[in-house]
Amino acid sequence: MNVFRLSSLALVSISCAILPAAASEATPSGAAPQTYAMQALAPTIAAILGVPAPKQAEAPPIDRIVKDLQGSNKLAVLGVDAFGAAIWEKMRGKTPYLNSLATGANQAQLRSVLPSVTCVNFGCMITGGSQKTTGILTKDSQLQCEDLCSVLRANGMKSGGFGRKDYTGDRLLGRYADFSVADMASDQDVLAGMMEVIEAKKPEFVIVQYGKTDDVFHARGPFSQEAAEACAGADAWLEQLVPWLRARGYAILITADHGQHETAKKDGTTGGTHGTASDLDCLVPLVWLRSAERAN
Ligand SMILES: [Zn+2]
Repeated sequence: MNVFRLSSLALVSISCAILPAAASEATPSGAAPQTYAMQALAPTIAAILGVPAPKQAEAPPIDRIVKDLQGSNKLAVLGVDAFGAAIWEKMRGKTPYLNSLATGANQAQLRSVLPSVTCVNFGCMITGGSQKTTGILTKDSQLQCEDLCSVLRANGMKSGGFGRKDYTGDRLLGRYADFSVADMASDQDVLAGMMEVIEAKKPEFVIVQYGKTDDVFHARGPFSQEAAEACAGADAWLEQLVPWLRARGYAILITADHGQHETAKKDGTTGGTHGTASDLDCLVPLVWLRSAERAN
């Protein structure tokens, strides 16, 4: 343990030393952030936590993020369901907290795997595999490949997977992780439950699905006034959770499983859907942060 602590300290000073170089990679204002495959997320997390990538992962780790977060002992993925990059762009007035976290140097985009639906993409986040590799058809499917939670377990680490009752965060992520919460009716209940689990069990890896955004976007359209309020709700949730996790030693990855596009409903009102290969459905934000103790 002492040796590990020492090497963590060494990594802290190395990453401080390379900060100017990392900053120079910042996206120029107005340009689209660099896009990586959703399959890169699991290998990136594995590299940060110092374990092998899941065996069938289909992309290499994202070097920028590994460099910035290397030496983190714990990591949390916060997945805001259906919060596509285009939706964030349109709703920036409703997400002041997230805006304040994303400086450009710690920001990119991911491209969802197909079909751009929740279970397939959260499944990808914990395996690095597209649907043909994971075999995921529903949130109750058995994974056909190695998953990150198992890799961590084999290396003496624990994981937590969280979401509302019967959502993917519960039925898929909670099933593969060591810890979960049962029967949570709202995202706020999930938040309270996962905080208790994290305090008690201190899992090295946490992944959580915030569900309300997808529900509202489907019902009212992803660019509607109701969607704007849902984005404000997600931003408030992040403001509760991110500092709390960072103070407990977690590095953070904020992302989404997929986006949404507008549809015309039979009654003449606007709704939303996803699943296609379009940029609206597939491009999602990715913002990364060090834990508080490593934030310079
Ligand atoms: Zn949906």
